[in-house]
Amino acid sequence: MSEDRVDLVVVGAGIVGLAAARAVQRRDPGLTVAVLERHDRVAAGQTGHNSGVIHSGIYYRPGSLKARLCREGRARLIEECADRGVEYRLSGKLIVATDEAELGRLDGLLVGTGPDASVSSTVADADPATLHLDVDGTVRASTGCRTFDGEWIDTGDEVLLATFGQRDDSPNVAADGTTTCSDAVVAQEDHVLSVLGDGFRAEVDGDRLTLTSRDGLGLVYRAAQDVVD
Ligand SMILES: Cc1cc2nc3c(=O)[nH]c(=O)nc-3n(C[C@H](O)[C@H](O)[C@H](O)COP(=O)(O)OP(=O)(O)OC[C@H]3O[C@@H](n4cnc5c(N)ncnc54)[C@H](O)[C@@H]3O)c2cc1C
Repeated sequence: MSEDRVDLVVVGAGIVGLAAARAVQRRDPGLTVAVLERHDRVAAGQTGHNSGVIHSGIYYRPGSLKARLCREGRARLIEECADRGVEYRLSGKLIVATDEAELGRLDGLLVGTGPDASVSSTVADADPATLHLDVDGTVRASTGCRTFDGEWIDTGDEVLLATFGQRDDSPNVAADGTTTCSDAVVAQEDHVLSVLGDGFRAEVDGDRLTLTSRDGLGLVYRAAQDVVD
């Protein structure tokens, strides 16, 4: 490459400039691209001074462009780190509603689980809400009010629950079918069942399992410290 003539100049060797330059060059390897940086090294600006978090997009509106790009970027970043031997840690995130009012804002977020693990619910007076997607294809779930079991199938695009039904030994359910669950737990149950109902996308990130239903409803489970079988 001639030093005084290039096809494209990118100003700024932060993550945006470097990623843009790389993308252009990958698309057209014949192009000469120069990245100009006022400092004597890359990532000397904001890129080298951030919190180092790989964001999951959990606070963005489900299905929005921002949420989708964030998730896609996250997956690509993890892949890149793995390819290049760059260490990273998927530590998960604990999101807790501290009062009833925050439950709505959490939009049904549970603090939960990955496969084969147990979860606890953000609804304080509920039994722990749990979801076990076992590797043998069986599923067991508690909404905090009732318990369910059945089988799960991964179609490639989404997870479908088959033969999923209430277990006879569900706690909090009387013989006549009435429950002793609080309104908050019943609301939680409605949300859980509506996400599980019709097929959902499942994403495992460290100890966190995120479910997103077809209509964008979400649930997040995170592995409890004491895994209960
Ligand atoms: C406090 C804080 C915490 C954050 N934490 C996270 C996080 O945990 N996870 C996350 O994903 N994102 C985080 N971000 C956001 C993320 O760090 C930024 O979005 C990202 O680094 C921006 O990259 P950039 O390339 O646009 O900018 P920069 O990294 O700032 O790069 C711009 C570069 O351009 C150079 N430059 C500017 N003008 C010229 C010029 N005229 N000539 C030559 N060079 C020039 C600068 O020196 C600099 O190196 C955080 C942001 C902040 C403010």
